[in-house]
Amino acid sequence: MSIKSNFSAVTHKISVSAAAVGTNPQLVAVTKTVSSDVIEELYALGQRHFGENRADAISAKHDVLNERYPDIVWHFIGSLQTRKVKDILPFVSYIHSLDRLSLAKEISKRADRVIDCFIEVNVSGEDSKHGLVPEDVVSFIEKLQEYQNINIIGLMTMAPFTSNDDELKNVFSNLKTIQEDVIKQNFEWAPCTELSMGMSNDYPIAISAGATFVRVGTELVTEI
Ligand SMILES: *Cc1c(COP(=O)(O)O)cnc(C)c1O
Repeated sequence: MSIKSNFSAVTHKISVSAAAVGTNPQLVAVTKTVSSDVIEELYALGQRHFGENRADAISAKHDVLNERYPDIVWHFIGSLQTRKVKDILPFVSYIHSLDRLSLAKEISKRADRVIDCFIEVNVSGEDSKHGLVPEDVVSFIEKLQEYQNINIIGLMTMAPFTSNDDELKNVFSNLKTIQEDVIKQNFEWAPCTELSMGMSNDYPIAISAGATFVRVGTELVTEI
């Protein structure tokens, strides 16, 4: 499979799952394992949203590509060290991994505009996963009011790596329920209209459960 046929397969699967629930999810191409060449290839196919999980890598790729492709939309999807915030803020449009107040404080202090952030939630409760426990999400968001440059656009989760569809469905619908709880609060700084969930292993299921952003790496970039 070439990048081109991977891209057709993934975008087709996304449209089929999305049509069934009447949504139009945004594909974020996760390019953390590949070089800028692959980003260029995907760009030529029409992809504009790209996700990276390391501050140094996203900065380096941005520097290589920015002049030729100023309309690339960059998503930071990995765990973010506070001291790296200033390096990525100039060009990043979305941060998917807000999980602590110290990080919100640094983003808000360093940003010269409002940054769209997803709160990362550890829905499955696995020790290896980052993110807030579901019970803490609303009270965490309440505390973000003072950080003027943070807009909570939605919630993000990573599901366990499993082939058990029911387990995956459960994780994704739990995130949707937490989203509904947040929306009920009517926090001006947290419209929380979006759900970032679904990776190569599970994005059709995530879309069925209401994903509006899917983060797909392996299935897009693996050439076999
Ligand atoms: C790597 C990564 C992805 C993409 O995972 P694939 O299984 O390669 O599709 C999505 N989200 C996050 C946070 C990641 O780190």
